[in-house]
Amino acid sequence: MNGLGEIASGGQDVHVTHLLPHPVIGGSFDSPVTPGVGWPDDPYVAGARPAMTPADVCEQAAGGLESIDAGVSVCRACPRLVTWREKVAVAKRAGFSDQPYWGRPVAGWGSEQPRVLIVGLAPAAHGGNRTGRIFTGDRSGDWLFASLHRVGLASLPTSDHAGDGQRLIDTRMVAAVRCAPPDNKPTTLERDTCAPWLNAEVALVVPYLKVVVALGSYAWDASIRSFRAANVEVPRPKPVFGHGASALLTAPGGREIVLLGSYHPSQQNTFTGRLTEAMLDDVLGRAARAGWPDTR
Ligand code: SF4
Repeated sequence: MNGLGEIASGGQDVHVTHLLPHPVIGGSFDSPVTPGVGWPDDPYVAGARPAMTPADVCEQAAGGLESIDAGVSVCRACPRLVTWREKVAVAKRAGFSDQPYWGRPVAGWGSEQPRVLIVGLAPAAHGGNRTGRIFTGDRSGDWLFASLHRVGLASLPTSDHAGDGQRLIDTRMVAAVRCAPPDNKPTTLERDTCAPWLNAEVALVVPYLKVVVALGSYAWDASIRSFRAANVEVPRPKPVFGHGASALLTAPGGREIVLLGSYHPSQQNTFTGRLTEAMLDDVLGRAARAGWPDTR
């Protein structure tokens, strides 16, 4: 059911379209958004086929970044997550009922030759799953982008919608799992099904990377698995996650990449004071300085 809502009428379902304008560019979009119809930064390219199985994901993750982003944007390999993301996109949340919802997987975003890679868990149901851009349109994104701007890694202090002019500076942002999961908890099978997308993306950006920031322990572990898959040496025993934790990874050829840990800027952490703005600025500032050691 793509772009259709259902209302009960006389015992029968009646399908009605809910085409709505994008908050920045206007127009008329269904929810979930049909690939390639003009959504800002839609990475879909004509001919990209939806991966339907884990084997499809492995096969399609073999291309370059553009091909990976396009493949991610139409992936359907996790039935539970496909159902959930599309159900949320149709139902929407009060306050966003006048907006179309992306309702598709959220691809990596930012520089294709990043010095800094930021890894999160998964898109939020009413954040990235609504806007189509990672950490965009929710409280976690508000915190993260404000801090990224303060330390010089984002051009604007806010990230509200795709197409809003926001730009990451020599930085790329990815999620370990590319679809919004119920309760923010992907299953192990879903995590492993999605991992080839992350692994492939990490392998492609390793030559440029100086720093990786893992937001939360889930992203920390996913990062370590993906860097090992990309033949980047990670110390053993496995470095332990914590806010401000760090480890030195060794890329092929001996170049060092710094892995930094930060508590995730979830409301659970920011509302309780477990993560403060100063704490987040400290970690992201270290990332910015490590990415540009000669100039900052
Ligand atoms: Fe595809 Fe990953 Fe979404 Fe699963 S979570 S459907 S593998 S993009």
